[in-house]
Amino acid sequence: MSAPLPWQTSQWEAVSGARAAGRLHHALLAAGPPGVGKADFLAALSAWLLCETPRSEEPCGDCRGCRQHAAGSHPDCIVLSPDYQNRPVLGAYPGQRCQYEPRKKPSSVINVEQVRELGERLHASAHYGGFKLALLLPADALNTAAANALLKLLEEPPDNTLFLLLSQRLAHLPATVRSRCQLLRFSTPPLAQARAVLSRSGPEADLALDLAGGAPLRGQGLLGQDIGAVWRAVGSGLDALLGDKADPLRLSREWLKLPQEALDAALYGWLRHALRRAAGATSGHATATVPPLARLRAFGHELDDFLRLREHPLVKELALQRLLYPLWAGAGSAT
Ligand SMILES: [Zn+2]
Repeated sequence: MSAPLPWQTSQWEAVSGARAAGRLHHALLAAGPPGVGKADFLAALSAWLLCETPRSEEPCGDCRGCRQHAAGSHPDCIVLSPDYQNRPVLGAYPGQRCQYEPRKKPSSVINVEQVRELGERLHASAHYGGFKLALLLPADALNTAAANALLKLLEEPPDNTLFLLLSQRLAHLPATVRSRCQLLRFSTPPLAQARAVLSRSGPEADLALDLAGGAPLRGQGLLGQDIGAVWRAVGSGLDALLGDKADPLRLSREWLKLPQEALDAALYGWLRHALRRAAGATSGHATATVPPLARLRAFGHELDDFLRLREHPLVKELALQRLLYPLWAGAGSAT
């Protein structure tokens, strides 16, 4: 991908205009919900900044900088990420990735050693004399010590360095880091543009977009996890539970085999639509039976706990059973 997505024009113009005027901010923070193309925007921006013979606002696609960026081997492009496998990380488009730092162990944080090493590399001269890029994907993963180390770099940035931060939980990022960056906000595109991104059209694609909260790249991910089948399994399972034709033990065993992201999206989507129906509104995707509000609220409360607890493999099934308990018609007779 060498151009921003269709709904990112204003953010692109803000950055390209600043570059043309010679006042590009040394730290850009791309913030917004998951699945709206923030990483793709940063990939397009990186490609353009590293191109040695750009045509206006596009990378040429053919120079040394373009080829190395596309191959993920540009020496002046450093990506910090909590992932540990050396795999493409930038966006949904093949071939668009920057150099990746392999980690020995799985981790959910960017740690201070990574940021210190980044600092050492950024203080060296650029290999090709152009920009040195540091991408933090996502900056939300910085732990406290790492955020403090990054803050020092942001306060006294090495020459020709551009920091590109991605965040989907802006409130979790220290205010001191945020205040050193130019904020670029990203949100969900209009429905027509979102639909155009999906590989398919029709009711299942619309369901995927709905359950993804309108975020097209997340919707595409759900389509890849067969969200239609997962949605039907969750809907019929919860109907059976509400009618005492299934119990939490059986359902949790069946559902643990479903793709995790699709299951999460289906459970949240079911709750959202059931709440609308319980409040008297119409809702196209709700399940046939709508339980009373009090039980829906209890289910919603358990759902947040479930997402936290299921990270531990040993309690995953128990957590799912507990989630389903408030909706089980047989709950009273079992106690
Ligand atoms: Zn080029």
